[in-house]
Formats: sequence, C-alpha cells, structure tokens
Amino acid sequence: PEVILQARDLVKHYPIRRGILRTVQGHVKAVDGVNFDLHKGETLGVVGESGCGKSTLGRLLVRLEAPTSGTVEFEGADMANASGKELRALRRNIQIVFQDPYTSLNPRMTVGDIIGEPFEIHPEVVPKGGRRKRVQELLDLVGLNPEHINRYPHQFSGGQRQRIGIARGIALDPKVLICDEPVSALDVSVQAQVVNLMEKLQTELGLAYVFIAHDLSVVRHISDRVSVMYLGKMAELGHEEEVYERPTHPYTQALLSAVPVPDPTLRGKRQHIVLQGDVPSPANPPSGCRFHTRCWKAREKCKTDVPELILRPDGVGEHFSACHFAEPQVIVPTTDVSDVE
Ligand code: SF4
Ligand code: MG
Repeated sequence: PEVILQARDLVKHYPIRRGILRTVQGHVKAVDGVNFDLHKGETLGVVGESGCGKSTLGRLLVRLEAPTSGTVEFEGADMANASGKELRALRRNIQIVFQDPYTSLNPRMTVGDIIGEPFEIHPEVVPKGGRRKRVQELLDLVGLNPEHINRYPHQFSGGQRQRIGIARGIALDPKVLICDEPVSALDVSVQAQVVNLMEKLQTELGLAYVFIAHDLSVVRHISDRVSVMYLGKMAELGHEEEVYERPTHPYTQALLSAVPVPDPTLRGKRQHIVLQGDVPSPANPPSGCRFHTRCWKAREKCKTDVPELILRPDGVGEHFSACHFAEPQVIVPTTDVSDVE
C-alpha cells in the first residue's frame, strides 16, 4: 500500500528550566526516536498510558510543534523542517481533532465560524462566496442539522460538539486526520456513534487516520494497525489482530492482560500480568530497554542495550517489536493463573 505519511527518527525533548536564570537542568524526552509509515486510507492506532508521548507525537505530525530532530514526510515532502508557504501548503493535508469537545471549541464563535475558520488560513480552498454553503455541507456530512450553522457550542451535546470538531478537521479536505483521544471524554454510547461517523467519513473521503487513545478496545475496533508506546518509544507495531492476539512485547502483553474479556466462558481463565512500580519519569528514562525496570522478563542485556523496533522473530506478518527477547504470546485463554475479573 502507498505510504502517505512517514515519520523517521522523530524526537521531541523539552528543556526543564529551573531557578532565577532559568537554566536548563535536563530534558523531558517526550518522543524519543519514533519511526512509522502511514498508508493511504488506513487507520493506525497509537496506544499507551498517559505520559508515554502519544499526544506529543500527534502534535509533531501536524507540526503544531517542531521536532527536536527527525522528519515527518507527507507524500515525500518533509513537513517537520518546512516553513512559511511550503509548510502552509503541506498543512492543508494533515489536520487534527482534539480530545475534549468542551474546551477545544471557542464558546464565543458560532459553529459556522468555527468550521469555516480553516478557510481564513487557506482561502484558496473555497472562495469567499461559497463558504457558508460549504460549511452547511460539512454539517450535513457529520450528521448535524445545516440550519444550526448560527448556533454556539454550548447549544450542542458533547457528541455533537465532537462532530463539530471533526467537521472542522475535514473542512480543507485533508488526506490525513490525526485524532487525539477523540472519544475519550464522551459517554460510551456516544463514543460508538462518533467512531461510526469516523469510519463512514474514512470510506467516503479516503482519509487516513492516526487514532491516539488509551482505550485498547476502542483502538482495536477502529484500527487496521496498532502501535504501542512506552516512554517516548514504540514498543510494538503491527496489524491489529497480530498485536492483540499474539503480542510479542512484554509491555503489550501486560496492557492486554488487564482488558476485560467479553466472552464469559473465558473469564477467569486468563493470565493477569501486574506491572511492578510506576512509569519512570520521561526526564530520566531507564538505560537500555526503557521497560526493564518493570519487565518480568528482563535480563542483564536489557539494562544496557537499547532494543530496536524490528520484525518479530518468527517473521509472521508485518509485526515489529522492540524487545531483545520478543516471542509471541497468546493472551487468552490460559488456565494456570490469577483471576482478572
Ligand atoms: Fe523486557 Fe528486556 Fe524485552 Fe525490554 S528488552 S521488554 S526489558 S525482555
Ligand atoms: Mg494525551
């Protein structure tokens, strides 16, 4: 499949400044060497606990922030290091939808102005006289009443507000939409409606999504491929079924072991892996494999050698794992283990 967006050695370090002179005391290594390809029309899920760098990754991909180093290529053009006119032209193709529809929309703007705002920055996309009509088409496309164009965000429900955010995200007809926890703030029933809408839009518009979330079930539902992040790096990356059914990285195996099993006959028959300790600070990540302080499989080598994200040992599928001792583990069912539910 055709690659539309490509991240290479992407790094974002934030300086930690202290004292009256604001001297740099160290760096928060929010994103620390991320590599992936996004294919045309696919959904790549990005999961991980809070603080793993997934939101920063999203902001780097749309160049809301410049990376410390590395590249983000859209159809071969480097967006991470572009500026001025070139960056503006590239940005039209990659838009972002944020988590919280309660705070990401300006309460003093009508939905018409909110959805039409991208046309102020990219006036060539829709001529001035046609914008109102285009906004009404967008409202219709996301399942809102086009006649509500003059209403304000507070007149809509949470789910409707996220639809407004999505309408704004697709206003410029982008090819890639970065979705940063787009349904996390919504009730479960509303989540499903918004996810369904996103799937419909993907088919109709040929969009590729990077879908960032901490909810493993939602990510599995919407994603073609999934990557698991830990402390600024990707631990595992592969087809959704590969990663969920045959995870090879111990961190993925632990995360999945905590997801409730929907099939009642499997309940109580699954190994529950309890990770020891907290996630270490991204300002001072562990040497070698960043997961070694919490990994039950860690050996001496893990303390010194950084594992690269490479094809899994048995070479089945396009499944990558950053673990020296990666081996497929079938998560359900097992019998000789502690009870989850
Ligand atoms: Fe665990 Fe070592 Fe693999 Fe890291 S490289 S996940 S510490 S076994
Ligand atoms: Mg986040």
